[in-house]
Amino acid sequence: MTEKLSVEERFLNIEHNLEYINSRIAESAEKSGRKRGDIKLMAVTKTVEPIFINHAIDCGIDLIGENKVQEFLSKKEYLKLENCKAHLIGHLQTNKVRQIVSQVSMIQSVDSLKLAREIEKQSQKLGVITDCLIEVNVGGEESKTGIDFSDVLPLLEEISSMSAVSVKGLMAIPPICEEKEQLCKYFEKMHRLFVDIKAQNIDNINMQILSMGMSGDYNEAILCGANLVRIGSSIFGPRLY
Ligand SMILES: *Cc1c(COP(=O)(O)O)cnc(C)c1O
Repeated sequence: MTEKLSVEERFLNIEHNLEYINSRIAESAEKSGRKRGDIKLMAVTKTVEPIFINHAIDCGIDLIGENKVQEFLSKKEYLKLENCKAHLIGHLQTNKVRQIVSQVSMIQSVDSLKLAREIEKQSQKLGVITDCLIEVNVGGEESKTGIDFSDVLPLLEEISSMSAVSVKGLMAIPPICEEKEQLCKYFEKMHRLFVDIKAQNIDNINMQILSMGMSGDYNEAILCGANLVRIGSSIFGPRLY
């Protein structure tokens, strides 16, 4: 896109995109034996200006995801969050935990014991319980955030005894795959882990949310068992950095 769109045109695009995405989610939910209501749609709002985020909220979005603590905190006062929750989905450094605890309703990117301990500490200080997902590096990629697949259970056992961190599920970003089949193998691997952990009934660990699937692959993710999809550019258009 080279031409700059007007605010009105972008509003219309957001409306059409949401309509389309909602119908695709419903389709994939049904194909996987579930209903539209079983799948949560998160609008990923990094780099998006509040006016457009608020329009998505007016169109029915009730969950947004931001990547950066600073960006979220600076936009927060302009957002209509009365009926919309916000999750942190980007990599979180321990020195930023103090600023974000109690500002979002969930941290989806917990990927180390050190980080979990800091969330525990800051949550205790504020007297809150912080809901978290464990971010898994399902492809074992060097460059990626997320905890190694084999380290997930040991981490959960440590978190199990924490009083102010509550694990609600898993999050993953699979490697970029040429073939849909390979991509689905990663999604299925995550789903199996999710089901396995659920069956273990670990104290304080509730496997309710499996967060995977973005603009390019949310249908595949739903077919493989995701129940929360994180969609940015397919709602708001390409990101301009
Ligand atoms: C940016 C981002 C998304 C959304 O990506 P799109 O391809 O724009 O849908 C989802 N999850 C995370 C963690 C992200 O950083």
